Amino acid sequence: MSSHLETMPLFDTVLIANRGEIATRIQRACRDLGLKTVAVCSEADRDAPYGKSADVFLCIGPSSASKSYLNKDAILLAARVTGAGAIHPGYGFLSENAEFAEAIETAGLVFIGPNAASIATMGDKIAAKRAMIAAGVPCVPGPDTALPDDQSLVEEIALDIGYPVIIKATGGGGGRGMRVVTEPARLQDALALTREEARQAFGSPALYMEKFLQHPRHIEIQVLCDAHGNAVWLGHRDCSMQRRHQKVVEEAPAPGIAPEIIGPVGEACVEACRQIGYRGVGTFEFLYENGAFYFIEMNTRLQVEHPVTELTAGIDIVQQQIKAAQGFPLALTQENVTCEGHSFECRINAEDPETFLSSAGVITGLQLPEGEGIRVDTHIHAGYKVSPYYDSLIAKLIVHAPTRAEALDKMRQALAATRVDGISTNISFLRALFEDEAFARGETDIHYLEQWLKQRA
Ligand code: ADP
Repeated sequence: MSSHLETMPLFDTVLIANRGEIATRIQRACRDLGLKTVAVCSEADRDAPYGKSADVFLCIGPSSASKSYLNKDAILLAARVTGAGAIHPGYGFLSENAEFAEAIETAGLVFIGPNAASIATMGDKIAAKRAMIAAGVPCVPGPDTALPDDQSLVEEIALDIGYPVIIKATGGGGGRGMRVVTEPARLQDALALTREEARQAFGSPALYMEKFLQHPRHIEIQVLCDAHGNAVWLGHRDCSMQRRHQKVVEEAPAPGIAPEIIGPVGEACVEACRQIGYRGVGTFEFLYENGAFYFIEMNTRLQVEHPVTELTAGIDIVQQQIKAAQGFPLALTQENVTCEGHSFECRINAEDPETFLSSAGVITGLQLPEGEGIRVDTHIHAGYKVSPYYDSLIAKLIVHAPTRAEALDKMRQALAATRVDGISTNISFLRALFEDEAFARGETDIHYLEQWLKQRA
């Protein structure tokens, strides 16, 4: 253990290669660990509050993300000139870019995340599926190989799986590059369209196919691993409330899941981490239907919804992630992991509550909820200018209470106490959703939100 610690490049300064609420969140974790921070920004984010509170703040490029937050060379150069020993990628942008992780390590710096090989394996959804099957993690029925070019062979595969099937881009992400096929007559067109989309969006036309589950819930398992082969899972979250495959509300634990059903799945995830030498935090995403779990993908980074697990497990996941990157062995074992009470997170987006079109502009007035069991992760303040260049997430409201019913109530109070003036937000939509009876009962599937929206239209 000590020998490994000696070989890990230790660091006292972290460059945060991200923006928005997660830049603020990571900065807080660094400060709590006594680490210095370097904040970077694009021209549009020059006034970001986390810039002022960082030890060093520098602009790395123009507003367009491709020229700033996605510019590997600019970020590496920023780390060099500021003397940062590690880079935290946050989520989105370069967080799951194996080349970036590799370049950082080659430069003798620490990438706060898994090694490049783990990122590459999990970024290729077929390779990920294969690794999961090897570790005994249950997967969605369908071959763990790419679809052949021969149309008749693909037809056979689809019949073998049984319609409806879903075609997915091997390198896909962000809910794109997927198409459901309900009958053989539609297969050919669907294949051509998805292949072309995959080629354009992800640079590879490779596709695979699996069973389309009709009424699943989205349930995910959070893992935490050190560089010494120790791994734990920190419970589960339900992220079934989705619109266009984008999560809107998350909760922990997933309601109505018996420990004896999820336990072996959590153990299999931990085993998969050991087998691939995974380091840091990660999330195994599953569809859950009729009492069974089916792996769909692994995210090799910190996730937006990590706070609901932090509140129920009583663990600062970002601090633990940084400590793992510093080479420290995990301070907890599986027996120490508990789940207390219930937590919800609402994503507050700068968008129209009816059309969901994103909204930019200056926040002229702001009121955020406070109180026991309420947490707000955000970078905004009155006078903050929401720019049109990036993701519309402006704040996360997170609540924690002893029971799910109390947590629902607390979120209703928190939403009632939240006011953002000057731009449109989805707050009124979230308030209405938290009044919905079926959602309040829990265990709704991944299609529920879209159906609910249709009924209200
Ligand atoms: P991405 O990497 O783009 O997020 P995922 O594989 O995680 O793609 O899938 C995103 C969402 O698509 C899931 O949360 C689920 O709603 C839906 N989905 C994916 N695979 C299936 C499937 N086999 N059956 C039903 N729905 C699916």
